[in-house]
Amino acid sequence: MSIYRGLIVAVSGPSGVGKGTVLARVEELLEQANPGSVGHSISVTTRAPRGQEQDGVEYYFRTKDEFEQMIKDGKIVEYDQYVDNYYGTPSDPLDEMLSKGQDVLFDITIEGSLALNRKFDVDTVTIFILPPSMAELESRLRGRGTETEEKIAKRLAQSREEIKRAGEFEYIITNDDVDRAARDILAIITAEKLKASKNINTAKELE
Ligand code: 5GP
Repeated sequence: MSIYRGLIVAVSGPSGVGKGTVLARVEELLEQANPGSVGHSISVTTRAPRGQEQDGVEYYFRTKDEFEQMIKDGKIVEYDQYVDNYYGTPSDPLDEMLSKGQDVLFDITIEGSLALNRKFDVDTVTIFILPPSMAELESRLRGRGTETEEKIAKRLAQSREEIKRAGEFEYIITNDDVDRAARDILAIITAEKLKASKNINTAKELE
């Protein structure tokens, strides 16, 4: 019997596109079908906790020095800067989850997704999420009600730049409806797991 190794599902897209909501729905559907099949990677960040966030739950909150030391020690598998702070994925827990056969969902920057894909290659699938339109993205960013006009304009400009890079991903989906987008991601995960390259040993066992 070949042992199934988990899949890294690396999802990127502009701020306000709904990555978090879609991924929460994907996880719910995966867990319904197969309880315990989804692993959680807790990122390390240098940004300060917000509201009720706790160390070791949403993130590991570390100083810039501590973060840089982790990079030197090879404890971070990929990292990126986002709005003046570092964010990175710890290596050991990820390896452990993948070898247990758990799939790991990532809401991560573009560079983060591409770095995971380079490092883990066949164990990673990269997905870019588009908004249905720029007008819809703008209204979602405004809907949060927390940002100034200047910040909204800045985020929209950044979103346009990010969308230009969608072609660097293996799959592109549109979040016009959370449930449909989540099902698109499930279809991608299923297809990835059925690739011949991943199942050739199972076929050989039957020869
Ligand atoms: P926030 O500060 O809102 O929690 O996260 C900001 C952004 O950082 C998120 O949109 C997410 O995509 C990205 N992010 C979170 N963790 C990681 C990580 O471990 N690596 C990378 N490259 N990006 C991350």
